[in-house]
Amino acid sequence: RKGVVVVTGASSGLGLATAKALAETGKWHVIMACRDFLKAEKAAQSAGMAKESYTVMHLDLASLDSVRQFVHNFRQSERPLDVLVCNAAIYRPTARTPTYTADGYEMSVGVNHLGHFLLANLLLEDLKKSDYPSRRLIILGSITGNTNTLAGNVPPKAGLGDLRGLAGGLNGRNSSAMIDGGDFDGAKAYKDSKICNMLTMQEFHRRFHEETGITFASLYPGCIATTGLFREHIPLFRLLFPPFQRFITKGFVSEEESGRRLAQVVSDPSLVKSGVYWSWNKDSASFENQLSQEASDTAKARKLWEVSEKLVGLA
Ligand code: NDP
Repeated sequence: RKGVVVVTGASSGLGLATAKALAETGKWHVIMACRDFLKAEKAAQSAGMAKESYTVMHLDLASLDSVRQFVHNFRQSERPLDVLVCNAAIYRPTARTPTYTADGYEMSVGVNHLGHFLLANLLLEDLKKSDYPSRRLIILGSITGNTNTLAGNVPPKAGLGDLRGLAGGLNGRNSSAMIDGGDFDGAKAYKDSKICNMLTMQEFHRRFHEETGITFASLYPGCIATTGLFREHIPLFRLLFPPFQRFITKGFVSEEESGRRLAQVVSDPSLVKSGVYWSWNKDSASFENQLSQEASDTAKARKLWEVSEKLVGLA
């Protein structure tokens, strides 16, 4: 049978490129888990994806009810789940004030981390049941959360501190809207959320890999300077960022190439190792990358897990 993969945020950028790459192999049925049904359907059609290669299902990660509803709807479809890709994200680098999810959490961490945290925990049961030879749970990371890299040192730097803002509810009322309890900074909130993504992947690995055999992985797909991720940035940045990445840092990758990379993490038999943060070198060969000290801090990963469980209603 075909493998079944759920990709969140498959309506644009990396998610769409990955959905297309997987669909084209003829070996995968892609569940495009998206907040805008019509946009996702149009995106799939204009990417030339064959009708029988995908299903669009509604998922808004800014609402925990929607996450639970998605899981319910997916189970109603009676498809198995072989791979889950937590790809969707928002980035609000110029925001001066926080916005909030339906549950009252700061939006970047709420969508990128908490929504995916609940989704991944619920769908773990479905992954366990699958009889597919290689079951995988993939959570997108980023270089920007890794302060052991040049890009990770561009201010404002990521940092979760002692998680006091998150533990306080991340609501901007009786707690800070930032994980570390500091003043709101939209760019930092995104970077913090990516640290959470990488810590969560490793904590999943420690808790469940041995018992379940599921592969847990994260990755930095390269700088895909042309995606919608930068839609809220100032126009000058959006104009100059792609050529800057292409010619100066040479870190630029096309959406197509990044989609091929993530598709490898989904299905390549040589990328089956669990607990790994994958990156690619200049010749597009994959390698196991090192995470920064904070992004691989096991005590912090455990604490983040426990606080997150409470915020999403799992504990
Ligand atoms: P895009 O903005 O192009 O895609 C993000 C996707 O997430 C869109 O499909 C968007 O939906 C979806 N999304 C946003 N909010 C929600 C929500 N509340 N519920 C459901 N879906 C939502 O960005 P990219 O493709 O660049 O980013 C994909 C991933 O890659 C992210 O995890 C990002 O952190 C990571 N990444 C990107 C890099 C880059 O250089 N671009 C570098 C490193 C990592 P909609 O279409 O409706 O807006």
